[in-house]
Amino acid sequence: MSGTIHIVGAGLAGLSAAVRLASAARSVVVHEATAFAGGRCRSYYDAAVGMTIDNGNHLLLSANHAALDFLASIGAAERLVGPPSAQFPFVDYKSGARWTLRFNDGRVPFWVFDRSRRVPGTRVFDYLPLARLLFPPAGKAVGEVIACEGVLYRRLVEPLIVAALNIEAPQGSAELASAIVRETLAAGGRACRPLIAREGLGTTLIEPALAFLKTRGTDVRMEHQLRAVQFSDGAVTALDFGGEKIALVDDDAVILAVPPYIAASLVEGLTVPTEFRAIVNAHFRIDPPPGQPPILGVLNGTVEWIFAFPGRLSITISAGDRLIDSPREVLAQTIWEEVASITGLPVTLPHWQIVRERRATFAATPAQNAKRPGAMTRWRNLVLAGDWTQTGLPATIEGAIRSGNRAADIVATLP
Ligand SMILES: Cc1cc2nc3c(=O)[nH]c(=O)nc-3n(C[C@H](O)[C@H](O)[C@H](O)COP(=O)(O)OP(=O)(O)OC[C@H]3O[C@@H](n4cnc5c(N)ncnc54)[C@H](O)[C@@H]3O)c2cc1C
Repeated sequence: MSGTIHIVGAGLAGLSAAVRLASAARSVVVHEATAFAGGRCRSYYDAAVGMTIDNGNHLLLSANHAALDFLASIGAAERLVGPPSAQFPFVDYKSGARWTLRFNDGRVPFWVFDRSRRVPGTRVFDYLPLARLLFPPAGKAVGEVIACEGVLYRRLVEPLIVAALNIEAPQGSAELASAIVRETLAAGGRACRPLIAREGLGTTLIEPALAFLKTRGTDVRMEHQLRAVQFSDGAVTALDFGGEKIALVDDDAVILAVPPYIAASLVEGLTVPTEFRAIVNAHFRIDPPPGQPPILGVLNGTVEWIFAFPGRLSITISAGDRLIDSPREVLAQTIWEEVASITGLPVTLPHWQIVRERRATFAATPAQNAKRPGAMTRWRNLVLAGDWTQTGLPATIEGAIRSGNRAADIVATLP
């Protein structure tokens, strides 16, 4: 096949598909509705804090091989930074207790046997039920597979699942939680190193991808929103962008890498996830205090994770739907009081911004997970990509990039 491949959506799914196909010298055009690439993973200049910030903190783990390969392809591998070993400092906001989880590198979980490395207040025996999460029965929620109580659950399992699946842990799909546990905890500390785009998501993941595509002559058309798709004889025949209609010829193909609700509005009869969960981020313009770790887990607070960047502390709260309607000033104040108490910084509220992504991810319940379509469609030249397609992972950067790679591979082998 040698026609033009139209990729609709310049989020990470669309960009990774474009990079893979452009690397194989395929003719690619990317169409993005907005004026910026990156979708839900982007940086922008924010006047309230007077600096460029990310829409939300994004954590990758060293297990995210597709994301790391993507970064290597676009020449940005060194822009993701993290500690040499898997360490996760935590603080309990209520009690003030602090500890650091230290996973050992290999697959055998020696850290579980070491009181100074494992979760304080737990015994080796407490970890055994976690094995049930390795191969859970199909279609079950986490709360149906393990007991959602106890110290280990509160201090390790719950924060891990809430962060990775962006859902209240008991409701989360056990299959998706299992995928995370198998690819990270069960794979050993080498797979669990936390990695952060220290200079920002845009500089790390998006701009280098756009620069790479430019060198390959790939046309990336911003503010070019797909409005309708025309079908005939089992194939897409035209893409309608409002003012412009592009007819597909011969072996042209389309990768639709838009969010699920947009895909469903463009392609009749598509089954997609229909429920979502929010993520709330608060950004404060302030120098992190000396010794502040790049990521700090917080239990028993509104705040869940504190990320430290140069000149800024940014806070993440997953499954944040309960905070969507809170007045912004009240939320900023509440969050800052917790952060000030944890970090020892002054209680005076610094310049701040709250970013609430209402549809940050699809709701990772068993029922919604079952609605995720595969990449192939009944239209022979139309392939789907996106973190919401059936990747086997929750909605993550890794899932989005794997879906983009898969879509590119399918298109490359179309007859
Ligand atoms: C606040 C927040 C925090 C997150 N934290 C993490 C994290 O810590 N770790 C992690 O791995 N993941 C995290 N995620 C999830 C991650 O951001 C997503 O999984 C990933 O970015 C999804 O990429 P995507 O390409 O599938 O979709 P999107 O990023 O949604 O991209 C879709 C693109 O399609 C475009 N589009 C829509 N309609 C049209 C149209 N009609 N025509 C043309 N273009 C169109 C959109 O503008 C967008 O650019 C987080 C997400 C959010 C919101």
